[in-house]
Amino acid sequence: MAKRRPTQRKTGTPQPAHQHEMGGCLRILRELSAYIDDELSADVCRQIRRHLGACPHCEDFLSSLRQTVSLCRHAPAAALSPADRTRMREKILQAARAR
Ligand SMILES: [Zn+2]
Repeated sequence: MAKRRPTQRKTGTPQPAHQHEMGGCLRILRELSAYIDDELSADVCRQIRRHLGACPHCEDFLSSLRQTVSLCRHAPAAALSPADRTRMREKILQAARAR
């Protein structure tokens, strides 16, 4: 999987692309809960992917999550059980609280 670097760069606008301190990671982690369930719009998915590209912490966290999800998707017989989803949500919330 190749990482995409943002090619657009706005100059003169003091707007941080990645707000790491308060809002950024926490918001992304919350969205990840829906992300694993495929409940997000393409727009939000894009936001998440962009954040993950710029944030090693979130990317690292998601990679294990994503691995599980994709394993399930590639194997039609093994769907995420409600228990699995609950466990993932708990992990996400824990990660979010730790920040
Ligand atoms: Zn982050």
